[in-house]
Amino acid sequence: MKYIQAHDKECVFCSVQKQVDSPENLVVVRARLAFVILNRFPYTSGHIMVVAVDHVPSLEDLTPAARAQMMELVTQGMGVLRKVYQPQAFNVGANIGEAAGAGVAGHIHMHVVPRWGGDANFMATVGETRVLPESLEESYARIRAAWGAP
Ligand SMILES: [Zn+2]
Repeated sequence: MKYIQAHDKECVFCSVQKQVDSPENLVVVRARLAFVILNRFPYTSGHIMVVAVDHVPSLEDLTPAARAQMMELVTQGMGVLRKVYQPQAFNVGANIGEAAGAGVAGHIHMHVVPRWGGDANFMATVGETRVLPESLEESYARIRAAWGAP
């Protein structure tokens, strides 16, 4: 395996693309122009993100093929999350630009968040920290298996 020294300020979505998928980097599945990763700070269990391979800040910077592949992965992800979590609803969307609340503003990504009526009952909230009913490792294993990733 080639060892690549991660640059200190390298974007997290660029850096995980150089790694093998694992519960540490939370990469679930990859396609040619986009990939799927679990959110390390999920809003609910099963909160995934679909990330473009290219480091560009906005949808307009992508090719139509890359945009289409992102939407396809969003759609597949909803199917996978329905199977694993039986959510009642979804939030699907992107925060584009820092002022819109993008965590990694330089690298376009879309959120897919499974929702249940009364999430607040589903997740105990302690101060600012949401306590989820399962660990990230558990979510990773379940979502990857349901996606049919090797
Ligand atoms: Zn990047």
